[in-house]
Amino acid sequence: MNEPITAGVTSKSFEEPDSEPPSGRAAEQSINQQGLPSETRFIFPVNRRTQEFKEKFFPGISFKDWNSWHWQLKNSARSYSELEHYLNLSGDELFKNNRPKSLPVRITPYYLSLMDGDDANHPLRRCMVPVEKELYISACEISDPLGEENQSPVPNLVHRYPDRALFLVTGFCAAYCRYCTRTHMVAEKAKSPLSTHYWQEALEYIRNTKQIRDVIISGGDPLTLPDSLIDYLLNSLFTIPHIEMVRIGTKAPVVLPQRITPSLVKILKKYQPLYINIHFTHPEELTIETKMACSRLAGAGIPLGSQTVLLKGINDDVETMKTLMHELLKARVRPYYIYQCDPIPGSSHFRTPVEKGLEIIQGLRGHTSGLAVPHYVIDSPGGGGKIPLLPEYYQGKKNGNVILKNFEGKIYTYPDYQ
Ligand code: SF4
Repeated sequence: MNEPITAGVTSKSFEEPDSEPPSGRAAEQSINQQGLPSETRFIFPVNRRTQEFKEKFFPGISFKDWNSWHWQLKNSARSYSELEHYLNLSGDELFKNNRPKSLPVRITPYYLSLMDGDDANHPLRRCMVPVEKELYISACEISDPLGEENQSPVPNLVHRYPDRALFLVTGFCAAYCRYCTRTHMVAEKAKSPLSTHYWQEALEYIRNTKQIRDVIISGGDPLTLPDSLIDYLLNSLFTIPHIEMVRIGTKAPVVLPQRITPSLVKILKKYQPLYINIHFTHPEELTIETKMACSRLAGAGIPLGSQTVLLKGINDDVETMKTLMHELLKARVRPYYIYQCDPIPGSSHFRTPVEKGLEIIQGLRGHTSGLAVPHYVIDSPGGGGKIPLLPEYYQGKKNGNVILKNFEGKIYTYPDYQ
């Protein structure tokens, strides 16, 4: 594993195109105190490794352009030939017919800069670069393992739990994760809205279904939408009387932290209570850029949570997970879920046995702050929802006493009678 990139904070920071003052300035300044100039209001940092990557592959590009999220999207790697330009691809990465499964390649220059160009086993690289193993389909694998299409009363909306709805507002992401549960719908052109018309049926359904009190905006990645569409969506939802809260699921602060501009934060801040859950995979994602993005969101009063997919050889050990959870808490992100990897087609090289997840929870609970211990869940195949899994702390009942095993494996009893 490479050193956390946060250790190599650059001594420079650079003007970003968006020039409104950010929220949470005090927190932002504290990040910038890690070696950055004090005039921090309008700037966005660039970590040392990313600077080196930029100098090597984009020498003529200004930092202003580099820090533009539009520039990052426009210059993302989308083909094998582009990947080959940045990375020494291994035999497994270069498959014979050069055709991965349906999910295309897309990686921002920023996220590419965090990868080891010479090591195909680098954890961030394994998440995004297709390998030949994707072509092997196990018998248990299906394209919509969560059965979302069967629980979709109108297009782009999943209504599984009575009081919550999942609103899939776009199929587009800044970078495509090879293990994505929604591989069957992300990256489809038809799922990338060009106008608000695309959402009307789902909005109408939410308006007419009074038991829905909580809407999760997901996709694809909602924060890849333009500011005006995000404003429209949030305004539409928050003006529905029975909607009590909205959550956004995103990986933008990780793969495109430049997206968290002051103007976006200003829009998000208008809508409360709004929660943001960020998809993190590995401690190396906690760069100074991502910390800045989280700081801006948290500084605006938006509670942040994390979601992490358990991935074989990437984050499936206690130390990596513990470091990730600690780094998240330092960035004001509350660890929320570790997901067992869903059995999408071609995912066997990512999936761990369920015991591995239990071992990780056992290695966290009692060994670190309770705040650093997320829920380990399996999103049950066929649409049964999230089912939490816990190591065997409860050992049964004897003579009115509950028998309990603590984090060290010692047995205790609790008198469970009046
Ligand atoms: S960011 Fe989320 S929705 Fe997009 S490809 Fe990754 S896992 Fe899938």
